[in-house]
Amino acid sequence: MVAELVDGFGRVHRDLRISVTDRCNFRCQYCMPEEGMQWRDRADLLTFEEITRVARIMVERYGVSSIRLTGGEPLVRARLPLLVEQLASLGVDLAMTTNGVSLPLLAEELRAAGLQRVNISLDSLRADRFTELTRRDDLPRVLDGVESALAAGFDPVKVNVVVMKGINDDEVLDFAEWGRRMGVVVRFIEFMPLDADERWDRSLVLSQQEIVATLEEAYDLEPIERSSAPATRWRYRDGGGEVGVVATVSESFCESCDRVRITADGQFRSCLFATEETDVRALLRDGSSDDVVAEALERTVAAKWAGHQIDQVHFIRPRRSMSEIGG
Ligand code: SAM
Ligand code: SF4
Repeated sequence: MVAELVDGFGRVHRDLRISVTDRCNFRCQYCMPEEGMQWRDRADLLTFEEITRVARIMVERYGVSSIRLTGGEPLVRARLPLLVEQLASLGVDLAMTTNGVSLPLLAEELRAAGLQRVNISLDSLRADRFTELTRRDDLPRVLDGVESALAAGFDPVKVNVVVMKGINDDEVLDFAEWGRRMGVVVRFIEFMPLDADERWDRSLVLSQQEIVATLEEAYDLEPIERSSAPATRWRYRDGGGEVGVVATVSESFCESCDRVRITADGQFRSCLFATEETDVRALLRDGSSDDVVAEALERTVAAKWAGHQIDQVHFIRPRRSMSEIGG
């Protein structure tokens, strides 16, 4: 019988996010420090075999059914399609979050290897603003990446837009219109206090309520019933597809969270905002059995807190920024 990765609040965890590298070819303002990061040594990163071993333990013992590859930028890890192939053989729903810039080269190969869905991060449709936000002049390549993902047959293709007040909040309707035209699902994400430069402030967060109010100025929306996924979703009543908001800050969804994470250097985290990690890499490398690794996973999840408390005085920022944890 399959056991469960369950915490003290009865939440069962079936969604695993794996960061495959801390490296990235962008330095987005809301994520990485302006001066860039000190990359970890290659030897510190889990190998594909180590990643697949932890994933297999979670799938076979605890019924984990969904895996998402993230980073840093997952597509800067060499031979990623090989890892995709290994994970796809576990029979899970396999997805990836990427900045999209390498998709024109890799979309077909990833699809053939068994990747099912992609989320592409894109925060501005204006070239100058895109360059300012990502510190890289690559809007055309990311737009090509979206087209390549659609052409390769990924379904759905989702586009993640981090919205920040006074920075790109004037593009909410542009993104909605573009998403409808392209046939992609746009998901607006509230800015979270996980930026390396620690510029986050509540006043920069465009809330779900504000995003939806803007969308409703132009479109007739119908709510879609919520699942354990973090996005609140709406359908355009005219048949134009759907749109979503990830409201981590204004309307936390911690009570229905079913996610766990493993960082590129093999640290197991029970929450995006966790301040403690379990060193699974050490166990994978010291000859520990699957039983021992599994016990460590169970213990970490059992100790998971109720929620992140971003808006409260005792909120503590995690030591790592989003690019290291993986979003
Ligand atoms: N490099 C890939 C990418 O950009 O899609 C994967 C890693 S990135 C850390 C994962 C997601 O986190 C992206 O959608 C990104 O926009 C989002 N993200 C990064 N920093 C964030 C922040 N401070 N608040 C909200 N979302 C953030
Ligand atoms: Fe890189 Fe993604 Fe962070 Fe941007 S959001 S710096 S693309 S890891």
